Amino acid sequence: MIVTTTADAPHSTVLTLLDAASDLGLSARTLPNDRGGSVVGVDGSLPHDVLGLPGIDRVLTSHRPYMLASSEHRTRSIVRVGHVDIGGDRPVLMAGPCVVEGRDEIIEAARAVKAAGAEILRGGAFKPRTSPYAFQGLGEEGLRHLAVAREVTGLPVVTEVLEPDQVGMVAEYADMLQIGSRNMANFPLLRRVGQTNRPVLLKRGFSATVEEWLMSAEYILAGGNAQVVLCERGIRGFDPAVRFSLDLNAVPLVKELSHLPIVVDPSHGTGRRSLVHRMALAGLAAGADGLIVEVHPNPATARCDAAQTITPADLGRIHRQGMAVHAAIAEASADIFELDDVLLTA
Ligand code: PEP
Ligand code: MN
Repeated sequence: MIVTTTADAPHSTVLTLLDAASDLGLSARTLPNDRGGSVVGVDGSLPHDVLGLPGIDRVLTSHRPYMLASSEHRTRSIVRVGHVDIGGDRPVLMAGPCVVEGRDEIIEAARAVKAAGAEILRGGAFKPRTSPYAFQGLGEEGLRHLAVAREVTGLPVVTEVLEPDQVGMVAEYADMLQIGSRNMANFPLLRRVGQTNRPVLLKRGFSATVEEWLMSAEYILAGGNAQVVLCERGIRGFDPAVRFSLDLNAVPLVKELSHLPIVVDPSHGTGRRSLVHRMALAGLAAGADGLIVEVHPNPATARCDAAQTITPADLGRIHRQGMAVHAAIAEASADIFELDDVLLTA
């Protein structure tokens, strides 16, 4: 059950709802909603007398296991990262190298991606490598370099956090915490980032269903952190011709099921530099709120994920054409809505 309250609802209403749920042995969680009130997700049904409390706006029977993330009570959320809004009317480009390689290197990359249209800098300091022998990132030193790159360029920074115990430290440097594909179902980590006030980029596990992914988002929301952006980064298919298969169905599907913004990662989603450009545009055509792309001033020398890394010039083309694709889609959607209006009033 989902209950929403109005902006002027007495504080006691939400507390009474939570108490009533607890008395019945039900789990309940609350978050602020977009109209100044609250949304309360209850894992079960509350009695009628409680639902008549002052300030209760809507009572919805939800058949979805993710109540706070559900589109049933809210159709769209905007997540602010530094000064950048994700989920608004304009798609946002996040870009940078797979891994932070050094101070000068990340500053150079940050300047280059900014000039190409990126609004958020990406770069891993703690890397979840498949091989224990592969470069694992610079750790806290990498975080310090990212902070310098932010200072130089003004770009907010997104970087991965691998372990619950690292969350405090990474949150001190980063504007947005990335949960990687391999950690999507790391529930202690999700709980921990749910307790921070930092926005979270939640990548889809490469073998996770859309529902499992939304349940992971629900962990973060249930912890009290409403600022979650989903990232479709490809799932494991049967064809070794590509590293992963970018599941673009997931983009409009997630838009139907959830109010959370979603971005697309065409770099990990393909594993091949030659496919990144078109799949980036396809992601925006599918309705994504942005892209996260691996970019390096000299991709051939990138220390991690070189085969899928593109140049700043390539990113500039994605930016130009991506904005045009987005504008065309926005126009087409407006046409569809007008058509619906006509049909409804006919
Ligand atoms: C990354 O963004 O560099 C990364 C490791 O991504 P994923 O978790 O999607 O594999
Ligand atoms: Mn990578």
